[in-house]
Amino acid sequence: MTASAAAPTIAQALAAARTLGLDRIDAQWLLGHVLQQPSAWLISHDDQPLVAATAQAYAALCRRRADGEPLAYLVGQAGFHGLTLQVTPDVLVPRPDTETLVDWALDLLPTLAAAQPQVADLGTGSGAIALAVAHRHPAAEVLATDLSPAALAVAQTNARALGLALHWAQGAWWQAVPAGARFHLVLSNPPYIASGDPHLPALRHEPMLALTPGGDGLDALRQIIAGAPGHLHPGGWLLLEHGWDQADAVAALLAAAGFQAIGHRADLGGHPRCTGGRREGPNKG
Ligand code: GLN
Repeated sequence: MTASAAAPTIAQALAAARTLGLDRIDAQWLLGHVLQQPSAWLISHDDQPLVAATAQAYAALCRRRADGEPLAYLVGQAGFHGLTLQVTPDVLVPRPDTETLVDWALDLLPTLAAAQPQVADLGTGSGAIALAVAHRHPAAEVLATDLSPAALAVAQTNARALGLALHWAQGAWWQAVPAGARFHLVLSNPPYIASGDPHLPALRHEPMLALTPGGDGLDALRQIIAGAPGHLHPGGWLLLEHGWDQADAVAALLAAAGFQAIGHRADLGGHPRCTGGRREGPNKG
């Protein structure tokens, strides 16, 4: 990016990013972020020279992106299910695949008997799942939990920005949830990557706590499934995101915990990315 040092134009700065291997759209986001201008403005002003400080800030961001830092961290936001969410390195970057879980929840919510369904999102991170559900199904009363106080702070900031009122609790999985609380729908995208998975090094910029529980990757899913019957109303649903090859294992865990109507939803790549089931039987509460 030597051109950056010599007052490149916007067009030259965008082209220089390509030589670092950046996607054009990423370069536009980074330069737009530094200039606080939308992409359309960049295109209509592409012969304008950058002042040195801008060129340097942009070049630094381009180098970080080329080193694998997620674009969302560099610009401080990500789109999820039609919402713009603030993200920091304290939270996992929301994935399009996770919209599958939200869509499943939104399909189920109108079928539940409750007029004001109680919903929990365990391990909410940026708040993506909880906020998307609260946004699209305003009658839902949503509790969002996370072990990380820093992640909860990000989620709460997002809720305020979106004008959504949720309940919050800090702690590990069911430990965060008040004893005796019962839900009609429980959702979670827990850490599920196995400790030796070859994809983990590429995800090094994201919180490992949110990506892997260690071992075979199923520990968090096991804990959530084990505690779910005691926190679901009869007929309530548990929907889980998991790894592309974990659908059978998660279905078996759900069956062993007494869940019925166990099914899967595929992600954008066609992998069975979410598995869920319905609690039958009398309320143990
Ligand atoms: N879907 C993420 C990935 O594979 C992992 C998210 C998670 O562990 N919950 O990059």
